[in-house]
Amino acid sequence: RSPVMSTGNALYARYGGRSTVTVLAGDGIGPEMLKHVTKIFQFANVPVDLEEVPLSSQPTAEEDLDQALTSIRRNGVALKGNIETKFDDPTFVSRNMALRRELDLYANVLHCHSIPTIPSRHKDIDMVVIRENTEGEYSGLEHQTIEGVVESLKVTTAENIERICRFAFDYAIKYGRKKVTAVHKANIQKLGDGLFLQMAGDMAKEYSNIEFESMIVDNASMQLVKRPQQFDIMLMPNLYGNIISNIACGLVGGPGLVSGMNFGEKYAVFETGTRNTGSSLAGKDKANPTSFIRASVDMLRYLGYSVHADIISDSLFRVLVEDRLHTPDIGGNSSTSQMIDALFRHMEQEIKKQVV
Ligand code: ATP
Repeated sequence: RSPVMSTGNALYARYGGRSTVTVLAGDGIGPEMLKHVTKIFQFANVPVDLEEVPLSSQPTAEEDLDQALTSIRRNGVALKGNIETKFDDPTFVSRNMALRRELDLYANVLHCHSIPTIPSRHKDIDMVVIRENTEGEYSGLEHQTIEGVVESLKVTTAENIERICRFAFDYAIKYGRKKVTAVHKANIQKLGDGLFLQMAGDMAKEYSNIEFESMIVDNASMQLVKRPQQFDIMLMPNLYGNIISNIACGLVGGPGLVSGMNFGEKYAVFETGTRNTGSSLAGKDKANPTSFIRASVDMLRYLGYSVHADIISDSLFRVLVEDRLHTPDIGGNSSTSQMIDALFRHMEQEIKKQVV
């Protein structure tokens, strides 16, 4: 069971004891995964209404983006699949990135831990990757000065470093974590990453119960594949976070397993950890639904529906560990629907336990 942090001033829509959340199905396997989640919520009688908003990867879909933003601002919370980002149009801004920036979802959190029975090179991993989610290389400021010379600006601000570091140390206190590792490349990016490293180190002095260390991103990548158990919370700027998150997800079994949470002061968006579309798996009933189901469970915990969250997550654990129903990405030959059917059977038992 992963803990889910709620941020200070978060507001979310709740009418007559029910919550409304925005759902963005995204591309690839997103729509089918969200259909499964909808059925799971119905089965568990979750008091959450899903407001589905279309958001596509088409460059012309400005209105869709506005509609999605309005809906999330009204509801405060969203569950989303990944929206494909086209490579071929340099003027096209990723819809995923636009959402994060417009909603100021400054913290991305991934809890990566080993699950028994799921094949992986390492055991007993339990780490949290906390990534600055709004600036750095993702500021989207690129231009060509003259033919053949492109400048890509990496923006680093003290304001954003301060809040992501504060988030990480507060998270450590709240969830009883022992150590924060700041990941950087300050030996080369002396000003930008230098500022990040200095501010993280200064803030660590305010949290004397939390051990603090720093590690250069190349070494951190090597240490992760060599001895991942040494990490507890890893804190880092945006692009390193993107890469390290994917390594961390790979270490515990791959893109189908881990969920990702995005928090700002006001809003929260829940999605898969590696933010894949998985388009080659769409419609084949083969994708691993675990990461989407866990994203929906994170959302339920955030909304305060912990009983429903436990029913779903305990049942999912039993499907993976007791039944050993594994999709091909983790070496099994089960289909998505076999996993979902088994999940319903376990949920039925879990719900009965609650009633007794
Ligand atoms: P594709 O569209 O072929 O899936 P891609 O490069 O767009 O390719 P991503 O969506 O980035 O792929 O996903 C990376 C890899 O992870 C792919 O091999 C994809 O099939 C796999 N993958 C992503 N999500 C899942 C999932 N839920 N279950 C199983 N495999 C997944």
